[in-house]
Amino acid sequence: MSQTQDLPPSFPSRLPNVGTTIFTVMSALATEHQAINLGQGFPDFPCDRKLIESVNEAMLADHNQYPPMIGIPKLRQEISQKIQKLYGHHYDADSEITITAGGTQGILTAVLACVSPGDEVIIIEPAYDSYRPSIELAGGIVKAVSLQAVRDENGQVSSYEIPWDALASSINFKTRLIMINSPHNPTGMVWNVADLDRLALLVKDTDVLIISDEVYEHMVYDGAQHHSVASHPALATRSFLISSFGKTYHVTGWKVGYVAAPAELSREFRKVHQFNVFTVNTPMQYGLASYLSDASHYLNLPQFYQAKRDFFRAGLEATRFKLLPTPGTYFQCADYSRLNIPQAKLSEADFCQWLTKEIGVAAIPVSAFYERPTESGVIRFCFAKQEQTLANALERLQKL
Ligand code: GLN
Repeated sequence: MSQTQDLPPSFPSRLPNVGTTIFTVMSALATEHQAINLGQGFPDFPCDRKLIESVNEAMLADHNQYPPMIGIPKLRQEISQKIQKLYGHHYDADSEITITAGGTQGILTAVLACVSPGDEVIIIEPAYDSYRPSIELAGGIVKAVSLQAVRDENGQVSSYEIPWDALASSINFKTRLIMINSPHNPTGMVWNVADLDRLALLVKDTDVLIISDEVYEHMVYDGAQHHSVASHPALATRSFLISSFGKTYHVTGWKVGYVAAPAELSREFRKVHQFNVFTVNTPMQYGLASYLSDASHYLNLPQFYQAKRDFFRAGLEATRFKLLPTPGTYFQCADYSRLNIPQAKLSEADFCQWLTKEIGVAAIPVSAFYERPTESGVIRFCFAKQEQTLANALERLQKL
C-alpha cells in the first residue's frame, strides 16, 4: 500500500467563491465578544405562547410522523385563504402551495426546479446572499443589475429605484428567471404597483419566470401596503411566491415557510422538493395551521415593528451615522463614513468586525449583498429587538 492512498481525495469546489454566510460569521463573532447582536435578522423576544401551546398539543396528539410531502392540508388551506384575502389571488391548496423548510430552501428548490446549465438568471443587487450560490449550483449564469439609490439635494439617499433600463437590456433568449425581493433585504425598499406593472410588461411575451421573495411581507410601514406578485394576475401566472412563518411569527428557528406557484410550476418544484427535504416537520405545521386564521397577529405587525424602527432611528439620529430610509423589513441601514473616527475609513466588513469587537454591537456589511466588493460605507442593523436591547446598543453607538 502506498502512502498516497491515505490522502483525502481532491475535488473542485462547486462554489469556489463562497465562504461561510455573513449572518453566521457575525453571529459567532457577536457571541465570542458578548456584543449586542443587531447583525443576523432574528427577534430577541419570544413568540406567542399560544403558538407554542398549539405545537405542544400537536405533539401530544401524536402528530409526529411524516406529514404529506407537500405539507399538511389544513396549513395549505389556511395559506390559500390568507393569500386570497390579502392579495385577491386563489392558489389551489392541493396543487399550488407547498410547505418548505423556510424561505431559503424554497428559493434554492425553485431555482433548481427551473434553471438548467447555461440559463441566465437576473438578480438585483444588493441581493440576499443565497441567491447567487443557488443559481450557480443549478449551473445558471448570474446577471446582476444594481438597485439605484435616489439622493436628495444634500446627497442623502431618499429612496431606491429599480434599474429598469439595465433590467430590460439584461433580458434575452437565455433568460430563464428574474429574482425579486420586496420588502427588500437589506435596504427595506418596497415595490409599488407601478413597479409590478412595469415588470409584467418587461416579461410579457417571454418565457421568463419570476421568483418573488416576500418573506418580509408584513413589515411595511407608514401606511404603505405590500404589493405581492399574487395581487398581479399577469405576474402570478409565472411566479414562485416565497414566504416564511419565521419572520411573521417570531420563530426564525422553526424554519417553516411556503412556496405558492401555478400548478405547472408547483409540479416541477415538488419534483425537486421531495428529494431535497422530502417533508417539513409535522408538529410545527399543525401548530401554525391552528394559529393562522387569527389575522390580528400579522395585521398588527407593521405597527409593532414601526415603533421599534422609530425608536431605533431616533436614537441613531443623535449620532453621526447617516440613516437610510426604511420603508419596510426589520433592517435599518446606516452610513458610517462621516463618523469622526479613523475607523470611518475602514471597509464595511472591517468596520463591522471592529464595531462588534470594540464597541460591542454587531451589524452586517451591506457589501456582503454584492458579488464584487461594493463599498458605500453602509452597514445594516436589525431592529427586531426588545426596546431595552435597542437602548443598550444605542448607548454604545452614541459614543461614536
Ligand atoms: N435573513 C436573515 C438576515 O438577512 C438571515 C437568515 C440566515 O442567517 N440565513 O439576516
